[in-house]
Amino acid sequence: MVVGNLRHAQVTIDERAIFNNVAAEKQRLPKETDLFAVVKADGYGHGMVPVAQAAKKAGANGFCVALLDEALGLRQALLTEPILVLGITDPEYSNIAASMDISLAVGSREWLIQAKAVLAQTVPLRPLAVHLAVDSGMGRIGFTDLSEFLRAVHYIQTNSEYFDFEGVFTHFATADSEETAYFKQQSAKFNSFVAALDDRPRYVHVSNSATSLWHEACNGNMIRFGVALYGLNPSGDALKLPYTLQPALSLTSEIVFCKEIHAGDCVGYGATYTAKTDEWVGTVPIGYADGWLRRLQGFYVLVDGVRCEIVGRICMDQFMIRLPKAYPMGTKVTLVGEDGGQTIRLQDVADYSQTIHYELACILTNRLPRNYIKI
Ligand SMILES: *Cc1c(COP(=O)(O)O)cnc(C)c1O
Repeated sequence: MVVGNLRHAQVTIDERAIFNNVAAEKQRLPKETDLFAVVKADGYGHGMVPVAQAAKKAGANGFCVALLDEALGLRQALLTEPILVLGITDPEYSNIAASMDISLAVGSREWLIQAKAVLAQTVPLRPLAVHLAVDSGMGRIGFTDLSEFLRAVHYIQTNSEYFDFEGVFTHFATADSEETAYFKQQSAKFNSFVAALDDRPRYVHVSNSATSLWHEACNGNMIRFGVALYGLNPSGDALKLPYTLQPALSLTSEIVFCKEIHAGDCVGYGATYTAKTDEWVGTVPIGYADGWLRRLQGFYVLVDGVRCEIVGRICMDQFMIRLPKAYPMGTKVTLVGEDGGQTIRLQDVADYSQTIHYELACILTNRLPRNYIKI
C-alpha cells in the first residue's frame, strides 16, 4: 500500500506510553511471571516492530502474534525473545516455525500427527515448541475434552524428538465484565485440565489484559498483555483500572480548505447537511479509506481546543467540519488525542460509532503514516 508521507494526516505513537504501560504491569506481576506483549495485527495498528521494541525495553519477556507471518516479521527485525503464534497454523509450516524458534498453539491431536509427518521430512534442529489450547468456554480453538487433551500430551511426550510441550493455555470470554460466574466456570475447567497433567509445562497462561488487570489471582506464570499495553482499558469504560494507562495513539490532520457557506447550502454526498445560518466549514483530508468510519458523521474533532462537529457524510479521503470562525490552511485538527486541554479518546470514537477501540485501532490503514515519539 502507498503510504501518504506527503499528506497532512498521521498517526502518532508515543513509545513512552507503551514503555510506561508495560513497566507498570511488570511491576504488579510476581517476579516469576513473564509478560508476553501481544503485537498481532501490526501491533493493534500501532506498528508491530516499534511496539515490540518499546515493550522489550520495558521488560516484556516475549511476544504473541496471531499469524506465523507476523512471528517471522519479528524474527526479521532481529527480536530473539520467545514468540507464540496464538492462532492455528497450517501444520505444513511447522518446520518453518521450528527452525525460527517460534512456538505454535495447537488445538487437536490430529494437528500434531500432521505436523509430525512434515517435521519428519527434515532433520529438525530443535523440536517444535507447542502450547496446547484448552477451550474452557470461549468456543474458538482448543481441547474441550480432557481425555483427548491427555492423549495429545502423551503424543507429544512419545514424540519428543519432534515436539516440546512448552505451554498450556486458555482464553476467557468474559474477563472484562462485572459478572464473574462464566469466568469462574471457565477457570475451573482449565484448572481441572492442568491438574490432570503429571508435569506442568514451562508456561501455564490464561491472562489477556482484562484477566491480568481484574483477575490477577489466576495469572499462571505468563500473561498475554495486549490492548492495555497500548493504553486502552479492555472493558471500555465498564471497569475501573487498577492503575492509570497511557494511550499511545493519536490521530491528527490539518485543515486543507476553509470557506464560508450560507443558510440553505448543503455539504457532502447525499446533501445530508444543510447550513441553518452563515457558517465556516473546513475540510480535513482523512476519510473512511483511512479507517475513519463513514458513520462518524455528527461526531466531532478538536480545532484550537474547541469541539467542531463533523458535517455531512465522511467521504473516502476527506470530511468536513463546522468551524466557529475562519481558520488558515494548515491549522491542526485532532481526531484522537489531546488539544488545548480537551481530549478525544479512541473509546469516545468507539462509543459514537458503536464498536470497540480494539477495532478502530486495527482499521487505521497504512495509508496513514505512523510517526513515533521515541523513548
Ligand atoms: C488477542 C489475544 C490476547 C490479547 O488480548 P487483549 O484483550 O488485547 O489483552 C490474548 N490472548 C489471546 C489468545 C488473544 O487472541
